Amino acid sequence: MADTTSRTGVTYATPEILGYLQRVHVPHDGGLEQAFTAPGHHGVPAIQVGPSEGKLLELLARLVAARRVVEVGTLMGYSTIHLARGMAPGGRLWTCEYDPKHARLARHHLAAAGLSDRVEVVEGAALDTLPGIEGHGPFDVVFIDADKQNYDHYGRWALRHLRPGGLLIGDNVYLFGRLLEDGPEAAAMRRFHEEAAAACHSVCVPTPDGLLLGVRR
Ligand code: SAH
Ligand code: MG
Repeated sequence: MADTTSRTGVTYATPEILGYLQRVHVPHDGGLEQAFTAPGHHGVPAIQVGPSEGKLLELLARLVAARRVVEVGTLMGYSTIHLARGMAPGGRLWTCEYDPKHARLARHHLAAAGLSDRVEVVEGAALDTLPGIEGHGPFDVVFIDADKQNYDHYGRWALRHLRPGGLLIGDNVYLFGRLLEDGPEAAAMRRFHEEAAAACHSVCVPTPDGLLLGVRR
């Protein structure tokens, strides 16, 4: 059977196919499962990456033998656990989280996943806390997944502090389908795309809400 439509963005994924692939490629151990299901138990929105996107983050960190990683937007620590597991021995990860309740729960999940010695949850608004982290750079990976109106600022910070060959990754870069609309959030997200494209070898991976991937030139 010939496929003549997938390059237009049509997807053949069904919930059943995605579920099968997650069971085969991304079986959750206790640590991942606790962080993944935590939103339902604590009245927190379930806005973490999907299991396959999480595993992709792990593999990307592994591909660049990441030893210094920054994440903006922790939530329950689900993507954090994936990223941290992809780090090379001796790796360290700083993850920025604004909401004290999220930070507290994430620390708990990271401890349960055995990662407390490698991961620091940095509490506060990322624009205020990133300057305190940059002394640990240059970084191998920066993953941006927080408030969308600041993606342009986070992207600029990342481009200043990534090593050449380091990875800039951004989640939700279709902006929930609103990328081409008017307004400050969409404008910030488009600046993020355009500045990443100028400074990196870049592509937007067509995940459900788009995942920007840039290799710093
Ligand atoms: N990366 C997580 C999901 C993050 S959801 C995962 O995939 O598992 C976005 C998170 O960003 C929320 O926890 C929210 O509280 C946090 N956030 C929002 N604005 C922020 C800011 N200015 N600085 C740091 N974190 C922020
Ligand atoms: Mg996201």
